[in-house]
This record gives sequence, C-alpha cells and structure tokens, in this order.
Amino acid sequence: MTAAPAQAAKDAVDLIDVTKQFGSATAVDHVSLHIRRNEFFSILGPSGCGKTTLMRMITGFERPTSGQIHLNGRDVKNEPANKRDLNMLFQSYALFPHLNVFDNVAFELKVRKHERSTIRARVTEALNLVRLVGYDDRKPSELSGGQKQRVALARAIVSRPSVIMLDEPLGALDQRLRQDMQLELKRLQREVGVTFIYVTHDQNEALTMSDRIAVISEGRVMQVASPTQLYLEPANRFVADFIGTSNLLTGRVSSTTAHQVCVDVEELGQLRAPGNPQCTPGDVVHLSIRPENITINSDTEERAPSTDTVSVPGKVAEVVFLGDDTRFFVDVGHGTLLTVKQVNMSRLGQAQPIALNDQVTLRWSISDSRLLTE
Ligand code: ATP
Repeated sequence: MTAAPAQAAKDAVDLIDVTKQFGSATAVDHVSLHIRRNEFFSILGPSGCGKTTLMRMITGFERPTSGQIHLNGRDVKNEPANKRDLNMLFQSYALFPHLNVFDNVAFELKVRKHERSTIRARVTEALNLVRLVGYDDRKPSELSGGQKQRVALARAIVSRPSVIMLDEPLGALDQRLRQDMQLELKRLQREVGVTFIYVTHDQNEALTMSDRIAVISEGRVMQVASPTQLYLEPANRFVADFIGTSNLLTGRVSSTTAHQVCVDVEELGQLRAPGNPQCTPGDVVHLSIRPENITINSDTEERAPSTDTVSVPGKVAEVVFLGDDTRFFVDVGHGTLLTVKQVNMSRLGQAQPIALNDQVTLRWSISDSRLLTE
C-alpha cells in the first residue's frame, strides 16, 4: 500500500489528478478533490458532466485511467469495491422485497457474522436515527417511497462506514417529501458523524444540504466552495450561471485603476466594475449581477453621476408575479434582457407599480457586480 501524503491523512477521500477516458472521450479530466472527514460534500453538475463516473471511481466500480484515489489516507488502487470502507445509497432503494425492514437493515451485519445482540442493538439504533421505530416487521411493499428511502438509509449507516456515497437518492420522491428528506439527511449526517458525498444535478438540493460543493462541467472542476461562497463569489461564468440566476454581460476592458475596471459592453456602453488585478485593457471579461442587486425605478431622469452606482435605461419587456417576489425582464438595448428581482414587501406605501412597456432606470452598486475573467 502506498504511504499516505501528509495532506491526505485528515481527509476522508482524496482524488489526486484523476482522469477517466472511455476510448477517446474524456469523462473526468484531471480532477483533484479533497473531501474532509465528517463533511457533507456535494458533486454538482449538469447531465453528462462526469458525476457518476467520479462516484464509480471512488466506490471502486471503475478504475481511473490516471491519477490516484485515497480513502482515509490510503491509496485504494488495488482495493475492490466490496473491501472499501464506504456504503452507497441509490434512488432505487435496492431493498430485498422478501425481507422485512429489520432483516433488510441487518443483512450486511449478518453476512459479516456479527453477534446477534450486536446486530439487534445496531439495527435498533439505525432505525431510531431514521425515525422508523416500530416498522421492524413490515415488508418493503407495505412502505411509502419516503419510508423505503429511510430503510435504505438505515442500511447504509448500520455498518458504520466512514463514507456514504449518495447518488441522487431523492429523485423518485415528490417535491414536498424531497424537501423534508433533504433536512433529514443533513440532520442524520450531523448526528452520525460520517462523510456524505452527494451526487446531484439539482443546485437547490446541493445548496440546502452541503458544507461544500464541487461544481463540475465537462469533466473538470469549476470551483469547490461553501454554498454561500459559490453564490457570492463565483469563480467563473459557468458557476455564476449554474448557481442561482445571474445577469451576465460580456465586454472588453477599456481601462483599469486599483479600485475600478471600465468595461465596454456593446449593448450598454461603458460599465464600471470592481477592481481586479488580473485585468488589463483589451481583455474580454464578463460582468455578473444578481437580479436581487438591481433596483428598478420609473424615474428616467438623469441623476448626478455617482462614483459607486451604475445606471442603465431600459424598457420593461415582461413582468412575472411570483408571490413573494416579482421578476422584471428589462430590455436594455439590442434585445439584451436584464432580470430584476423585487421582493414584494407590502402593498402599502408602494409607489405607482411598474408595468409592461414602462421606461425605467436600472441601478446597481458597483460593489454588487462581479468581474469574471473566464
Ligand atoms: P447524468 O447526470 O446524466 O447521470 P453524469 O454527470 O453522471 O450524467 P457520467 O455518467 O459520469 O455523467 O458520464 C460522463 C461522460 O462519460 C458522458 O459523456 C458519458 O456519455 C460518458 N460515459 C460514461 N460512462 C461511459 C462508458 N461506460 N462508456 C463510454 N462513455 C461513457
């Protein structure tokens, strides 16, 4: 077995420059990830980005073309899937239909020939944790989808693996149950104190549960960060667009100072953005502005120029009422639409509401825009 590098010892899983090729197609492209012990870590990306392939390499069902995978600091290159200190949870539950809940959960412990008293204690503890006390004698066919998922979860934790891999496990549940289970999974992960690696294409699911998220696109890691960081400080255009909603404008840097960068955006002219030491005049860059950071006003008169605010005129192309907020889609020229999100506080005190085809002015604080170089 290869000696663990110093960095690896504190991590549950380390992927070190891992690549996977299927023929000439690269499914995973030089990925390095360090997943900490007891962390809720999500691998998030659109369909086909390589999530399942990454998961299958960690579990041992697939071998990397190059690179290393360490589990608890040990290189597991030669360790078969059934010997790795991890368990899996799938959307399909994979319960034995002829066994009752107790025996489904106890199955692995029986195979490993644990004492009867140990099995009873561990299964009872696991069913307690997933809130299925009293369901021991039921068959899977007598359970709801959510209950089956809890049994599968109890089975995944009962042998106390150091890592549990979850591959879109909530996909089969309806929206409401899904939201409940997301909170349940987060609670369970904290209580059991185990590393969860959650694979999903659903950004809300990842944001709700994760300590950190790796955003993947076309086999490559775009960014690894906490949900808040991903939202507030996306590293590139892909992350800004994939996490939440973003207005993205592309332009060329015309001038820079330590504090501000001027960007020439074809539709809008010169826009100012926060300083960025990576930018030099002539560079093509992208400005990301979140819809909730833009204000919309029906005053179209020029105000005195402000050093910290950007103003852009436009015409309201669409208004969508969504209950707690309203979205305005504003044409700012050449068919470019910017989205504005306005929280609906109260009808009281609201000035004349903004309507379709109104001429408006959009304003945002320069510090609320983000300049992206890739
Ligand atoms: P989804 O969310 O749709 O399951 P994914 O992000 O999990 O997608 P993967 O299943 O890992 O993506 O696939 C990544 C790429 O590798 C895809 O282009 C896929 O077609 C390809 N791929 C995966 N498995 C194989 C295989 N056994 N042989 C050839 N190509 C494969």
